[in-house]
Amino acid sequence: MQVTEIYSSIQGESSYAGLPCIFVRLTGCNLRCDWCDSEYTFTGGHKMSVEEVEKEVRKLAPLRLVEITGGEPMLQEEEVLELMRRLLSATYGILLETSGERPLAKVPQEVVKIVDVKCPHSGEAGTFRMENLAALTARDEVKFVLSDRADYEFARDFTREHKLAARAGAVIFSPAFRKDATGTRDASHCLVDPRELADWILADGLPVRLGLQIHKFIWAPETQGV
Ligand code: SF4
Repeated sequence: MQVTEIYSSIQGESSYAGLPCIFVRLTGCNLRCDWCDSEYTFTGGHKMSVEEVEKEVRKLAPLRLVEITGGEPMLQEEEVLELMRRLLSATYGILLETSGERPLAKVPQEVVKIVDVKCPHSGEAGTFRMENLAALTARDEVKFVLSDRADYEFARDFTREHKLAARAGAVIFSPAFRKDATGTRDASHCLVDPRELADWILADGLPVRLGLQIHKFIWAPETQGV
């Protein structure tokens, strides 16, 4: 596997936000989202076997929750599936953070898939693989990262049209964070003001969760490895 980093931190996103978690961050992505905060994963990294990755994860005991992320982890599908099987048999909880562009049908049901649907102003509109809707279970989460009102309206309409709240365990609307953000740990770096987003969600009566990337509030926004 091509691996950028393996480390423990506090989960910053999804309904698992706030929980201690081991991150396996894989190298490489085939998309280029405008607000991407992990461009350092696009190249580099180091080769590790699936066994070596599992060993590194085990060293971070006693944590029992692992997120496989990137970059886009499903670009290394064969190895990722093998890693999932190994970690599941060792009774780890697994989260998979994915762009939604890669096929997800082979991911084991026990894995919590956190699947993006890229919005119009992400720079990667239309990349969501529609057949991935059929792979969603009540365990999974669908995430929209929003840059502006147009993105919100796209997310709202997509959520309604595809009945996402019934298909997945959570639907998350999250303001994009300015990728050049530094210093202060506050909502001023969000491209959509969370308070405004709250108003929009309430006005439309949407069954979605407003998500903030809490690691950007715990640590300085530019910090890597958290
Ligand atoms: S899919 Fe994720 S890693 Fe890839 S460019 Fe978009 S935000 Fe960055």
